[in-house]
Amino acid sequence: MPVDPTADLLRWYDAHARTLPWRLPPNGQMTPDPYRVWLAEIMLQQTTVAAAGPYFMRFVSRWPTVDALAAADDGELMAAWAGLGYYARARNLLAAARAVVARGGFPQTEAGLLQLPGVGSYTAAAVAAIAFGEPAVVIDANVERVASRWFAVSEPLPASRSALKALLRPHVPGNRPGDFAQAMMDLGATLCTPRNPACPDCPLAPHCAALALGKATAFPVKPAKKARPLKQGIAWWIEQGGAVALVRRPPKGMLGGMLALPGTEWVAEPTDPDPPFPARWMTVATPVSHGFTHFELHLHLRTARLDSRPALPLLAQAHWVQRSALDSIGLPTLYKKAVAAVLASDAQPCFEAA
Ligand code: SF4
Repeated sequence: MPVDPTADLLRWYDAHARTLPWRLPPNGQMTPDPYRVWLAEIMLQQTTVAAAGPYFMRFVSRWPTVDALAAADDGELMAAWAGLGYYARARNLLAAARAVVARGGFPQTEAGLLQLPGVGSYTAAAVAAIAFGEPAVVIDANVERVASRWFAVSEPLPASRSALKALLRPHVPGNRPGDFAQAMMDLGATLCTPRNPACPDCPLAPHCAALALGKATAFPVKPAKKARPLKQGIAWWIEQGGAVALVRRPPKGMLGGMLALPGTEWVAEPTDPDPPFPARWMTVATPVSHGFTHFELHLHLRTARLDSRPALPLLAQAHWVQRSALDSIGLPTLYKKAVAAVLASDAQPCFEAA
């Protein structure tokens, strides 16, 4: 039996195409209206099918042609768009409609469509394929996922996008490029979903390299997480009479306004500063490691136990909290880790007054 993934995909699409307000039935005899195809693709940018549907119906009923839309009052169109978000799309919609009318109709190629305001590479390819039958390769997020699995592409997205295009191009049929694009989109939306692909029902299953490897959900390969830069700081555990000095962090910045051990700034290239006052300082051997969104912190801990509370500016606003209460006062995770590290450390029981 000849191996023809395109034929398998289109056969599936003929039977299972989603019914959408802007779509013609698959393999039909009717010619798609470029206006409706373009309008839908603009609305679908950053918007779900469910949210865009009612807007699409209202727009085509109020402005049934591109000429009608081009003649729309700007304020009226913006009001009709209200709620759909990303308002630059509405402004571009109007500008593009007027450009189309001025040039006497829609450009019929991907390259020509790209010249219209608000039309990027995905939208240009989709309109060219669906409305004008150009064998353009249409890649949206759903198609990226399906193609990454179909060909088991080991390069992560988005770097693999041009490789995916090249792999798909020979499969785009000259006679039904729009249906091929929409079939790939539908497959990604309904069967080849991110977490639980329904491979047994999939028309591409006999051709799918990821499935053959038994690793469908391993594709698309996720980009390696960028190593977060490392910052370091020192926190001082100052204990007197069984209570530990905590200070409130400045209101702005990381952990702003939260209780913390007093300490240094967190910086990329630390120097070991002099302790805030002379004492028998001890060091907790392993710094506390904590990941913030944009950096990794190593917090080095120094401990000292005092006979009396020192009159230092550093501790003027200090809250002295009993060691036994430290886990119940809502310390942020970083300082919970620091408390646990000190209490588990050799540095903890044996320090003495200066
Ligand atoms: S066989 Fe599975 S992983 Fe491969 S394209 Fe189909 S649904 Fe996706």
